[in-house]
Amino acid sequence: METIRARRIIEAIAHTVIAHADELTSLDQAIGDGDHGINMRRGFEAVLADLDTLAAGDVGALLSGVGRTLVMKVGGASGPLYGTLFMQLGKAWPVQLNANTFQATCRAAVEAVAARGKSQQGQKTMLDVLFPLCDLLASGADRAALRAHAATCAQATIPLQATRGRASFLKERSIGHMDPGARSTQLMIEAVCDSLENA
Ligand code: ADP
Ligand code: MG
Repeated sequence: METIRARRIIEAIAHTVIAHADELTSLDQAIGDGDHGINMRRGFEAVLADLDTLAAGDVGALLSGVGRTLVMKVGGASGPLYGTLFMQLGKAWPVQLNANTFQATCRAAVEAVAARGKSQQGQKTMLDVLFPLCDLLASGADRAALRAHAATCAQATIPLQATRGRASFLKERSIGHMDPGARSTQLMIEAVCDSLENA
């Protein structure tokens, strides 16, 4: 993939996250400290501001640079976690991009997030959207299936009790609300699909 195309995808992710910042913040008001949208908007505004520099090299360098910017600017729990996701994607971005290498690279990046967060699927976090995405990529699903599944997985965090992150402090009171990080991950997946469809 050329850097110009990857840049357009990053822009689409940034614009989508920024447009939904208030929604992410209100989700985090219910089961966290109400900063997820603010954190993510700050991070992706910094990405947009630095995009010329970030996109001066190859796709791997772009993704790594996005990850470093997110670590520095997002803060909270999600900054290091999304930062790890993008940095690991950048580090392992395949020279020969195909369905197989793409899904392996994504899985390695999601596993790096889980290692960083000392977390796993089923704990009402972003991983509840990220891990199923890897499974779906491995099964060769198309973009419509990816979109639908991401939405279903974000919705499926509603009845869960959180056992990681700030929401876990609420114990059973975390039940009945969508996880903000699951929603931001879903939004990013939608943005990638939109961008690929409009390319
Ligand atoms: P904070 O919780 O520090 O205020 P944010 O509000 O920006 O940070 O992000 C909260 C989101 O981060 C949660 O909704 C959840 O999806 C994700 N999260 C928090 N802790 C973890 C973890 N240990 N592993 C995976 N995801 C996590
Ligand atoms: Mg928060």
